[in-house]
Amino acid sequence: MATPSSSVSGSVAPSAAIGSETVRPSSQACHALVVTTTERCNSNCVYCSKVTRRPRDMSLQVVAELLRAVDAYLGARSGESLGLLWHGGEPLWLESRYFEAVADLQRRLCASTQHRIEHRVQTNLTCLSAAHLSALRRLGVADVGTSFDPEPGIRGPGKRVDSNRYNRQFLQGLRLVERSGLGWGLIYVVTQRSLERPREVFHFLTNLNLASRVTLNPVLSGSDRARSLAITPREYVDFLGTIYPCWHRRRHRFPSVHPLVAWERALAPGDDGASADVRDGSVQLSVHPDGTVSPCLPDRTPGARSYGRIGDRTLAELFEAHWQWQRQAERHRHASPLCHDCRWWPTCRGGLDLDAAAHTDMDMQESGWCDARRRFFTEYYEPVHERGRSGA
Ligand code: SF4
Ligand code: SF4
Repeated sequence: MATPSSSVSGSVAPSAAIGSETVRPSSQACHALVVTTTERCNSNCVYCSKVTRRPRDMSLQVVAELLRAVDAYLGARSGESLGLLWHGGEPLWLESRYFEAVADLQRRLCASTQHRIEHRVQTNLTCLSAAHLSALRRLGVADVGTSFDPEPGIRGPGKRVDSNRYNRQFLQGLRLVERSGLGWGLIYVVTQRSLERPREVFHFLTNLNLASRVTLNPVLSGSDRARSLAITPREYVDFLGTIYPCWHRRRHRFPSVHPLVAWERALAPGDDGASADVRDGSVQLSVHPDGTVSPCLPDRTPGARSYGRIGDRTLAELFEAHWQWQRQAERHRHASPLCHDCRWWPTCRGGLDLDAAAHTDMDMQESGWCDARRRFFTEYYEPVHERGRSGA
């Protein structure tokens, strides 16, 4: 279940102030692992970056190694919990017995820690069955993430990208989820076709999901197929900025529209007038079918790194490796003339890890995100809040 993105805020940023002692993630931070159960999918979405030519599935042996590592990590930290997001490809393209077996493994290998594992699944819903739902419940999944795009010819199976079929099956799957009482959230991928009507898209999505957990991710580049849909960081920010005043007025009704809610929280001044830092130090990492672990990045990101393999390194070591890398990126940016004197540093801290990783030399000017980010702050965020302060 691909989630095209080089989100400027959806992910976790370094939480230590430059020059201070490294602030380790608090015991309240909930780290998460995004588990690629399979690189196969029943759909053929135009912008997919997940499905590969030689797709792999995660064997139950690797799942067992993963659960042993999770148990060891949680066993040593009584106050913590850990998120596992069962992702793909399309995880439910695997049969329900796969998830039954995962639930059995968890019961055996995480007997005393399983109540602190927060399971979620990210699925396109088009092959969801009652048997899947039952297996997912046994595992402890309480929440489903999905994605949807009503535009024809973007999401769908087969060479012709049959979006009618996709939409029909998606809505059937959604009814099953709602009848089962599970919560759900939705990713919408912002493409060239979305740019002409940002507000319509916002209203459509918040009407579709009345609980309104909606994440808006950009499709930035990728394969030749996706090129005509790709948008620039600036177009993405203009799309979000157009929605922003409308969402801000209704933010209590729709408290989970991302990344707007994260940006607004990050920009809101604290009691002392400084930017509030809402980053809790939680870390999110990808686990690939062979058990290797890397930052959560679009799969074709150049220079994407691996921190090692589950089983060879403990989870604590893998989280620490990511932490150190984030810290190095933050230091590098703070030393650059671009960021050093920027008034947005307290909030932005030179951008987030996805941007840094996409540019291994960590050059923000090249990435295009710096201009886009500043544009959001000055063209969209500040006018809304200045109007609010003046009572207009
Ligand atoms: S649903 Fe679409 S975007 Fe997600 S993995 Fe399948 S083909 Fe890729
Ligand atoms: S807005 Fe640009 S210059 Fe300012 S801190 Fe962020 S990346 Fe650096």
